[in-house]
Amino acid sequence: MNKKELRNMKLLEATDELIKLAKEDVPVRDKRYYTEQLIYQRGLYLRAEVENNILKAAFYLAEYLSMDCRKPVYTLYIDKKNDIFKGYDYRTKKWSESMLDKTIFSKWLYQENSYMKEADTALIQKYLESEYDDAFYALYVYQREQRHRRLGMKYEKILTSWDQCMDRLPKIPKDWLRWQKKVGITQNFIFYHYSRRKDQTGYCSWCESEVPISHPHHNAVGHCPKCRHQIQYKALGRAKNIETQKETAYLLQTCGNNVFVLREFQLQMLIVSSSYKKPVYSFFERRRILYDEKLNTKEYYFGRHHWTKESRWIQGKLQVPLYPGYGGYMTYEKYNMGNIYGKSLYGIKNRTFRRTGSTNMQKSKGF
Ligand SMILES: [Zn+2]
Repeated sequence: MNKKELRNMKLLEATDELIKLAKEDVPVRDKRYYTEQLIYQRGLYLRAEVENNILKAAFYLAEYLSMDCRKPVYTLYIDKKNDIFKGYDYRTKKWSESMLDKTIFSKWLYQENSYMKEADTALIQKYLESEYDDAFYALYVYQREQRHRRLGMKYEKILTSWDQCMDRLPKIPKDWLRWQKKVGITQNFIFYHYSRRKDQTGYCSWCESEVPISHPHHNAVGHCPKCRHQIQYKALGRAKNIETQKETAYLLQTCGNNVFVLREFQLQMLIVSSSYKKPVYSFFERRRILYDEKLNTKEYYFGRHHWTKESRWIQGKLQVPLYPGYGGYMTYEKYNMGNIYGKSLYGIKNRTFRRTGSTNMQKSKGF
C-alpha cells in the first residue's frame, strides 16, 4: 500500500443522501463555552468502499456537506492483509499515521452519533472481521490493535538481540559460589554457649568449625583466632535470627576478544539461630556492564520488563526509588563498594585494564 497507489484510487465523494442529511443537520449555538460553538446533531458522516482489497473510509463534516462540498475531509486506508493503515487529510494535504483518537474526529469516538449507511457499516465490519456495531469505533479498535501488534514485533526483535548478547557471556567460575560465601560476604560470626570453662570454644561461621575463644561478649566484635576474619560474637540463646546486610560483589570476566564484562551481585546471609551451622544464602545477580575494546559500556539489569511483564535482563540503567517506601521518584542506582573476584582478570591486557580505572569500577574495592 504505497502513497502513489492510494492517490490513484477513486475518491469517495459524498452521496446525495449525505448532502441531504447534512442540510437537515442544523447546528445549535452553544454558549456554555467561552468561545461559542456550533453543536450538530450528528456532525460527522462516513462512507466506506473496498478497492483492490484496500478498505477506504471517507470522513465528511456536516459544515462542508451542507455547502454541497462532496469531497471528504479525511480518508482512512486500511490494508488488512499487510496489516497497515494510512490516512490522508484533504485540508492539510498531508498523509497521516495518526490514530483516530488523535484526529479532529476523536469526539465522535464515544458519542456514537456519526452517520453511516447500514450497508457501509456492514462492509467495514466484514472487512475488519469486527464485532463492533459502530463502524467508526471498529476502525479505531483496528488501529489500536495494529499498533499493539507492531509494538509487540518491535519488542520481540529488541528482546531477542538482548538475549543473544546475554547468551554470549562466559560461564560462572566453578568456585564462584564458595567465593561469594567466603570473600563476597564479609560479615561473620562466632556462636558460643555461656560457659565458665577455660578451654571454651565457639563456632566460627567462616571456618565452619569450633575455634577456641576467651571471654566472649554477646554482640562484641573481635577476630577469629583461626581464620583471622572479623567476627561478631553471638551467644546462643540470646541471638535472634541474623540477616546480614546486603553486600555487593563483582565478578569480572573476559568476554570475547579483549572485551570484558563486570557482573554485579547482591549477597546476603540468613542464619536461623536454631540451626546456626546451616546458614541460608541469597545471591542475586542484578547488573551486567559490558565493555568493548574502546571501553564503551553497555549496561543491563535484571528486572521486570514493562511489555512482557516478566523478569529478565534488560538493557539500560537500573533505577531504584529515591525514597524507598514513599513511592514516586526514581533515581539511577549507584555502584556500591564490594569485593571483586579477580582470578579471571588474567587475560585482560594491562593497558586496557589500567585505563578502566577511570570508570565506575574505581569505586569498587580492590582497584
Ligand atoms: Zn574463623
